[in-house]
Amino acid sequence: MKLIEFFKRKLKKYDDAYNFTCDVCGREVFDGARVCQPCLKEMPKNDQNVCPFCGRKVREEGVCLECKQKPLKVKKARSVFTHEGEAARLVVRFKRGERYLYRTLAELSMPLVRREFEMCDAVTFVPMTGKAEKKRGYNQSRLYAEEIAARSGKEILYAAVKRHETRSQKFLGRTDREKNLEGCFHIEDRKAVKGKSILIVDDTLTTGATVSELADALLRAKAKQVYALTFTSVENKHPFGLPPLGM
Ligand SMILES: [Zn+2]
Ligand SMILES: [Zn+2]
Repeated sequence: MKLIEFFKRKLKKYDDAYNFTCDVCGREVFDGARVCQPCLKEMPKNDQNVCPFCGRKVREEGVCLECKQKPLKVKKARSVFTHEGEAARLVVRFKRGERYLYRTLAELSMPLVRREFEMCDAVTFVPMTGKAEKKRGYNQSRLYAEEIAARSGKEILYAAVKRHETRSQKFLGRTDREKNLEGCFHIEDRKAVKGKSILIVDDTLTTGATVSELADALLRAKAKQVYALTFTSVENKHPFGLPPLGM
């Protein structure tokens, strides 16, 4: 038993300390970075015009139409990249079995965490139902959140559970997504939540309905404020589905 523990620890150390290849292009890296500089340069940084509330890329400066109509329950959401290109591909790979990518996502997120979420005391994630987690083998939001907590020195909260499975959200807008998710999250450890500023960490933000529903549950359990960080977010296109100008 002891021997197994010894090798496990050795393996973990090896795993954490070294990185030899870029997680995007596979080329050799020499500084231990998860993504090489040329790849990083190509990734779609979400640092232009963003909605001050949901953090999604907008065509014109200001609050997006969806947030104007109905604000999210999070005080502020921000994402590192827009959901395109290699950033979107990293999220897809991360969800489809390449669980080790939580380090890559966290590493690329840390500048944004330091810049935007200094005020948060604790970090949490979007829970999955036991059945869904068993099927995937892990909860990607949890792995990513744990790594953000470890790197930022913030507390990690395991306070929420997902009570029932919800249908796929793929083709639903924000209002339908909200209805679909209503009441699905339950805060088991209300004491851990009370009075804290909490950062929800998740892989991607589409309409924000998921983080909003979880934020609602956390706020009802007396959290002080709730924020959200996602690796990517989907650009807020024209609300009436018209093609972009000039197309
Ligand atoms: Zn690369
Ligand atoms: Zn918005």
